[in-house]
Amino acid sequence: MLLVDSRNPQQTKSFTQALLEPSSPTGGLFSFQNVPNLDFQAYLHLDYTQLAQALFGVLSLDVAPAILQEALKRYEGFSDIAPLKHLSPTLYVQELLHGPTLAFKDMALQPFGILLSQLAQQRQEKYLILVATSGDTGPASLASFASLPNTYVICFYPASGTSLIQALQMQTMDAPNLKVFGIKGNFDDAQSTLKVLLKDTGFKAILQKQGFLLSVANSINIGRIVFQIIYHVWGYLELVRHHALHYGQPLNILVPSGNFGNALGAFYAKQMGLPIAKIGIVSNANNVLEEWIKTGVYDIRQRSLLKTYAPAMDILKSSNVERLLYALLGSQRTLECMQALEQEQIYTLQPQELQILQKHFESFSCDDESCLKSILETYQKYGYLVDPHTATALHAYQQLQTDLPCVVVSTASWSKFAQTTLLGLQGVASTDDRQALEILATQGITPPQRVKELLNRPKIHTEVLETASVASQIQVWLEKH
Ligand SMILES: *Cc1c(COP(=O)(O)O)cnc(C)c1O
Repeated sequence: MLLVDSRNPQQTKSFTQALLEPSSPTGGLFSFQNVPNLDFQAYLHLDYTQLAQALFGVLSLDVAPAILQEALKRYEGFSDIAPLKHLSPTLYVQELLHGPTLAFKDMALQPFGILLSQLAQQRQEKYLILVATSGDTGPASLASFASLPNTYVICFYPASGTSLIQALQMQTMDAPNLKVFGIKGNFDDAQSTLKVLLKDTGFKAILQKQGFLLSVANSINIGRIVFQIIYHVWGYLELVRHHALHYGQPLNILVPSGNFGNALGAFYAKQMGLPIAKIGIVSNANNVLEEWIKTGVYDIRQRSLLKTYAPAMDILKSSNVERLLYALLGSQRTLECMQALEQEQIYTLQPQELQILQKHFESFSCDDESCLKSILETYQKYGYLVDPHTATALHAYQQLQTDLPCVVVSTASWSKFAQTTLLGLQGVASTDDRQALEILATQGITPPQRVKELLNRPKIHTEVLETASVASQIQVWLEKH
């Protein structure tokens, strides 16, 4: 299947082209145009890898089977792939946190790195991937690309804006094709510095002279989204296999959302015929998405970004909403809405458009106080410890007005956010994650082995840059490669 620019249907790319070069001159995102309708029942007997291969097949994505197989082998390094935990008669939690960096970003980024590297080798090209991270994308990108041929990753994180564990996951990464910089400022500063560079033709020309092409590994890359369809399908099929559902019975899904990539994967699965009743979008106090789905108004005029306990959801311009607009309303309307958002910071859906949106989605939000409460209540009720992002979705579950079974998507291990976890469980403030982990350990709450090891690993990357020196530091590093 050819992918289409969400703002201009004349602009198409194959999947591999869009993966290597995700940007479009219109500013749009390469998207699926019409996904096939499937009877997923036929996939009940497949294991995770076979399911992924089958979905790549029916979507007619131009990836050679041998390369895909190589990419999917990455799941062998997970302690589990996407298991479901049964918490109450109608509540399941799907854990997407068993990859190397303990967040759901691994689900897509692990195989994605192999795909990109293999394609780059075939074409004898070298790719530079610039990553700005608020905490989870950085570690997952570095872990994916470490030592992969023909790929180089430079990662920027806000120097005082991530959890200790997230910072260590980046600072201790040791591979010749990886570089990590702290940025003086917040995530927005890191992100906008990169956005400016990615648009700078002079900068691109210099890179090209040095033999590098630019790509990105964030969720505007459709190569990430495709891997995020699979686990939603897997989750449903698991429930059928375990006789929790008959095939065809509807299911609700709740997704803690930021850039809407995870939820978009669920939406594509629904469009392909997976019996999902509603996809519940959960926001934190930055509840633009909640408001949009309830009222049809996407309005960021009066908003400034709030820092919350669920930082991966601290987003105002949620990038993958654009792909949803395209799928529901077509390219003309997508262009209008996105231009209005860029120019006026607001757009409004027509009543019939809002109806279409609400056929698929409902929305919730959870402020910091409710998030802490949800961590505690989930632990007390089910003996189950969740991270703050997952806690927002469990808070939303309490408000669901339905008896349908529900899958809450769990996006990270609590151990990446130990300070908030401790605060939620016991109301105890700690100086940093290390101390919080120590206090929790005295009570028998211990983190996964990967986190314990991290605390003693030497830091390789310790530089912190002013935003103004980012471009020159990139060049200095590239000259050595
Ligand atoms: C990235 C992330 C999210 C948000 O996912 P989107 O696909 O951007 O909506 C939620 N929780 C955690 C822990 C994350 O890392």
